[in-house]
Amino acid sequence: MFVSMIATLFLSLLIIPTMTTTDTTTRFVPRDLPYAYDALAPHVSEETMRYHHDKHYAGYVAKLNELVLDTPYAGQPLEDIVVSADGPIYNNAAQMWNHEFFFDQLSPEPQTRPEGPLLAAIERSFGSVENLKAQLDKAAVGLFGSGWAWLVADKQGDLSIVAEPNAGNPLRRGLVPLLCFDVWEHAYYIDYRNRRADAVAALWNCIDWGAVERRYEQR
Ligand code: MN
Repeated sequence: MFVSMIATLFLSLLIIPTMTTTDTTTRFVPRDLPYAYDALAPHVSEETMRYHHDKHYAGYVAKLNELVLDTPYAGQPLEDIVVSADGPIYNNAAQMWNHEFFFDQLSPEPQTRPEGPLLAAIERSFGSVENLKAQLDKAAVGLFGSGWAWLVADKQGDLSIVAEPNAGNPLRRGLVPLLCFDVWEHAYYIDYRNRRADAVAALWNCIDWGAVERRYEQR
């Protein structure tokens, strides 16, 4: 009896540190939104933000942590995984990266027009801000199925628009992401049902061009 109690105690002492180690290998932690859940209403509702951030985004992070466990990706920065992985690890890593990028560019008090070097690049590549917005709308609304529409810069600083299906991320093509629209149905269906064009039009009200300018200047 005594021996078995000692044995049980000894085993617990062995098991407890092992469990602690398992917990700390949860490497990727979902970020909080940089604003309140209801801050973007009425353009994006509180209910959409709660589902989008807490269920969809956090779900990708949790799945990524499961998938990278005991793989060479476990020690890598997220961006390296996005650039080099394939299959489910790529899908979940890119969805984590894309969502953080998406949430970070939105604001309840956005800078409503691009300025400075970014404005100059927009006018060089698209002629005008209005033309850029029209082309990005077309890419976002026209993308078949789930995916992302991106404004990107190349190595010369010239801008273009790319539409990527599923978890697609332009870093894979050596391009610098500047701005993105999430056109997965989970991003808009609660508020706009099947009206993706209305969801995209509303989201423009929340795009913080100051955040996009910083991305362009730091590329
Ligand atoms: Mn999403």
